[in-house]
Amino acid sequence: MTRDAIRIEGLKKTYQGGKEALKGIDLTIPAGSIFGLLGPNGAGKSTTINILAGLINKTAGKVDIWGWDQDRNPRQSRAAIGVMPQELNLDPFFAPRAALEVQAGLYGVPKAQRRSDEILEMVGLTDKANAYARTLSGGMRRRLLLAKALVHHPQILVLDEPTAGVDIELRKMLWDNVRKLNRERGMTIILTTHYLEEAEEMCDEIAIIDKGALVKRDSTANLLGSLDGKTMIVQPDQPVETLPQAKGITVENRADGSLALSYRASQITAEDVLAVLHSAGIRIRDVRTEQADLEDVFLALTGSA
Ligand code: ADP
Ligand code: MG
Repeated sequence: MTRDAIRIEGLKKTYQGGKEALKGIDLTIPAGSIFGLLGPNGAGKSTTINILAGLINKTAGKVDIWGWDQDRNPRQSRAAIGVMPQELNLDPFFAPRAALEVQAGLYGVPKAQRRSDEILEMVGLTDKANAYARTLSGGMRRRLLLAKALVHHPQILVLDEPTAGVDIELRKMLWDNVRKLNRERGMTIILTTHYLEEAEEMCDEIAIIDKGALVKRDSTANLLGSLDGKTMIVQPDQPVETLPQAKGITVENRADGSLALSYRASQITAEDVLAVLHSAGIRIRDVRTEQADLEDVFLALTGSA
């Protein structure tokens, strides 16, 4: 049976001062998925996540977390979700182990159910367990934020731009952990990222928001399949003076002497394209194709890179 981890209806947020950050979002996120929330800067990703986390109040709409209405059952809905925020907001006075104990206390996790050392181990902070917070590097602070999001054993883990500006090693550690939590514990993962390759690789499903509105929500595979444009890049064995012409194919001479032939895969086959080249007397030394990636989908939907 599939259930919804998150159900959002008509979600609106107008900040003090009048900025309308969310203009009415409807979104469901299935339990057990790794779900990507994408959008250009200022789209409303963090606003959405901070509302889910209970960090800011919504202006209108309904939010259910693990089946609990956020307004009617605030305690249960908060208990179901752990959030690693975008900002590195850590209390400078607490060493990692102490910070986790405080967090567990805030969530009412009984002493016997606390797993501080296990969580520190998982994020690679064991040898910093008692270090002064101010001696922690930026990467270590991020690890600690992830650890804090996990202390109350939430069913849903939300990561807001977890890899923005982090080094490769930390990025790998984060994704390994996220995959493991998803696979071994069935934890639902929601993440925002502006690294589209990362979303393409990590996420089962993706929602794209722009200017406070949902513009697309689909499986990653469908999103990638939805762009029909293909380009064949051909290296001719000698320079081509007159470009071949054919209906439905746009031909361009590239600076490196190759020919780029763009077409709609739903209307024209690669064989058709090759036939056009052949009848124009062009001999092919090398050929490859360019596929649409998430970047193209994103660009087509939001007009920003
Ligand atoms: P994203 O995370 O997608 O980059 P945000 O949710 O942070 O976007 O911001 C959405 C919009 O709301 C932006 O225009 C931003 O400037 C505005 N905004 C965010 N936080 C506040 C705030 N505290 N007060 C006023 N406007 C805000
Ligand atoms: Mg943000």
